[in-house]
Amino acid sequence: MQKYVYLFKEGDASMRNLLGGKGANLAEMTKIGLPVPQGFTVTTEACTRYYEDGQAIAPEIEQQIYQALAETEKIAGKKFGDLNDPFLVSVRSGSRASMPGMMDTILNLGLNDVAVQGLAKLTNNERFAYDSYRRFIQMFADVVMEVDKAKFHNALEDLKKEKNAKLDTDLTSEDLKELVRRYKAIYLAAKYTEFPQDPKEQLMAAIKAVFRSWDNPRAVYYRRMNDIPGDWGTAVNVQAMVFGNMGDDSGTGVAFTRNPSSGENKLYGEYLMNAQGEDVVAGIRTPHPIATMKESLPHVYDQFVDIAETLEKHYRDMQDMEFTIERGKLYMLQTRSGKRTAAAAVKIAVDLVDEGMLDEKEALLKVDPRQLDTLLHPNFDAKALKEAQAVASGLPASPGAAAGGVYFTAEDAAAAGKAGKDVILVREETTPEDIEGMDLARGILTARGGMTSHAAVVARGMGRPAVVGCHALHINEENKTMTINGKIYHEGDPLSMDGTTGHIYAGLIPTVKAEVSGDFGRLMGWADTYRTLKVRTNADTPRDTRQAVEFGAEGIGLCRTEHMFFEADRVKAMREMILSDTPEQRRAALAKILPFQQKDFEDMYKALEGRPMTVRFLDPPLHEFLPQESMVEEIAAIAKELGVSSQTIVQKIRSLHEFNPMMGHRGCRLSITFPEIAEMQTRAVLQAAIKVRREHNIPVVPEIMIPLVCTRKELKFVKDIVMKTAETIFAEMGERIEFQVGTMLEIPRAALTADEIAQEADFFSFGTNDLTQMTFGFSRDDAGKYLDAYYSNKILENDPFARLDVDGVGKLVDMSVKLGRSTNPKLKLGICGEHGGDPSTIEFCHNVGLNYVSCSPFRVPIARLAAAHAAINAEKK
Ligand code: PEP
Ligand code: MG
Repeated sequence: MQKYVYLFKEGDASMRNLLGGKGANLAEMTKIGLPVPQGFTVTTEACTRYYEDGQAIAPEIEQQIYQALAETEKIAGKKFGDLNDPFLVSVRSGSRASMPGMMDTILNLGLNDVAVQGLAKLTNNERFAYDSYRRFIQMFADVVMEVDKAKFHNALEDLKKEKNAKLDTDLTSEDLKELVRRYKAIYLAAKYTEFPQDPKEQLMAAIKAVFRSWDNPRAVYYRRMNDIPGDWGTAVNVQAMVFGNMGDDSGTGVAFTRNPSSGENKLYGEYLMNAQGEDVVAGIRTPHPIATMKESLPHVYDQFVDIAETLEKHYRDMQDMEFTIERGKLYMLQTRSGKRTAAAAVKIAVDLVDEGMLDEKEALLKVDPRQLDTLLHPNFDAKALKEAQAVASGLPASPGAAAGGVYFTAEDAAAAGKAGKDVILVREETTPEDIEGMDLARGILTARGGMTSHAAVVARGMGRPAVVGCHALHINEENKTMTINGKIYHEGDPLSMDGTTGHIYAGLIPTVKAEVSGDFGRLMGWADTYRTLKVRTNADTPRDTRQAVEFGAEGIGLCRTEHMFFEADRVKAMREMILSDTPEQRRAALAKILPFQQKDFEDMYKALEGRPMTVRFLDPPLHEFLPQESMVEEIAAIAKELGVSSQTIVQKIRSLHEFNPMMGHRGCRLSITFPEIAEMQTRAVLQAAIKVRREHNIPVVPEIMIPLVCTRKELKFVKDIVMKTAETIFAEMGERIEFQVGTMLEIPRAALTADEIAQEADFFSFGTNDLTQMTFGFSRDDAGKYLDAYYSNKILENDPFARLDVDGVGKLVDMSVKLGRSTNPKLKLGICGEHGGDPSTIEFCHNVGLNYVSCSPFRVPIARLAAAHAAINAEKK
């Protein structure tokens, strides 16, 4: 028969997947002889089985639980419901990955009308016993039976009023007996049954509640944020209770072997005498720093310091420990790898290598790449944030904290920004024309859009904090106001936003600048030693390029050329090009753009100092360069500027209208209809490269990338234009330059025929934004509206636009890699969709054999570390 229940003495740390982190560590501490109240763990497989069996515990598992319980009673030398010395347990969740506070806990289980008397007798403290009992009833009713906890809170407050008691501790044991009576009456009224007196019944219900809590909304959300699969399940730990509230020689506390916020190598923690764990957490009394225990309980302190050292050495990582002192005797209730700030994570990893405890590879694995974000962006002052109340939230699209006055158009935001104000740009959604306002804002907030919407992509590229898809926001652009939950905000009103969590706050919360230490540089150096994937960046300005190179980018994997066309003088020429009727007119308009584009490329080649750059040819549908038909004033202004009638522009806008622009006249289709565009862009790329090589002696091998290809002939058609134009340029300039032509893989048909397409391509770059959009048939700009329903109904666990859908889109990627290399072994392969900066996607990219990932500049360090993790983990397998 399968074993679903393990006594602590039967397990060890290697059994984490089965016993959960907490269970495995309790077993390990038992094994190395530390003082652990004994108990047993119901495995994660029992949790999976519970869900498979329609949320029920199978009889064979129940049987094993009862056996383990009997065994645990024996070890403790106590019995449930004993009138002299009753056995009591805690029931706690514990999954493979730590999910602090996300699931449920029940303490003092086993108390009933008889055991409470036993506890009173044993402790010679009736008040303590009844206080424990009333807490247990409340916790059991709330957590296990889902009775509204406000009812218990009100009953307690009423009684305090009747008894003229200011604090809970002013209530006498008689008062608490009365409270127990009232609590039981509340329970009966809510559940139509008496509060259960049988400890086994209590236990089984509690175990079920913990299993159930695996799927509560906050746990589901936490898993999505931290890439924890929903099918892992949680284990349940049943452990003998020890009491920190048995008098002045008892206490409880939490400590870290190093400072979790700075990483300083010094025991850090707090404890409270005569208290239970929840008193420490609830913050009703102020705990004392752990160092003061040296005076108050020197023996216990010395023993604890010893244990902390033992545990840190044993696990070779900073530990977060919970302990209880019962009548002068120390018990360890839990140890785990401590959660830490990014700064602390980096310092601890580097220190542990210097102390000889870890090698470099092990140290790298101790730092979560996702965390590095907070090292590179400003954050809210932690204390101020604690006091703030979020008024709304959206998708955390680009990390970092920002505070400032709200502005509702890009022009207003830009003007305020130039005047030195701190600005939050608030838009329904952003468009390429908003670029200046976005750049001059501290943060960007949109009511619509998903993780690959324009606002999200551009904000990440700029390193500007952004929250998108915040549906609680109602913007009235005309009146320059917005409403959040009925409250109106006018232009300039203060607002704070956190692009790391997606939360929005009223008022201004102070921010603090991120600090990057020398340890960070050392750690990144190690990452570079062990990774094999190259890391490039998505950048389209010389400034972003410099930033990315500073962060360690090894080239540009995607330069979206259309972003270069939006500045005032350029967009004018672009519009002239769009309004052209003949190829000659178009060429004349494009000739005006050429010098700008070429100059940008020159500056970027210089900033890259010989690193490669992939330039993608014009991709978006042309209507993006024109205003909407309803924007009468803008149309009139453009008409005047270009010397045509408003009517001409309106007609053009109408003719460019498409029902499905994302599947419309865009990508390589533009160059197929207007080859002059490809000609001009080829000129800009190659002339810039030759010039920079000539004047600055910087070697450049340009890479030209044709977007949105779905057939070989399509690619060949555009490539032929590029090759022909190149020959003309070489003849004109009297010198040649080596260059490559490749394509983006963004359409399922391209993936299916990758062997064909690879024969025309030097490289493939997976455009997983479009590839996801077209594989799912989900609009990348609008999917956010319904994805929540997909999460809550367990159809999807993650946003497929943020984390690559390995099963579907990933299969296309894997297939294209194999097909492509089968006909072109030299084919270079990369990814440049937003997924290129996502650590779990990076692991996938390493495993399918891509050569590089490309991501926004601020994600480059994250990608370098994630690529190192991928290489080290693959080696271990
Ligand atoms: C993509 O589709 O993944 C991509 C990188 O191109 P864009 O986001 O510009 O469509
Ligand atoms: Mg694309």
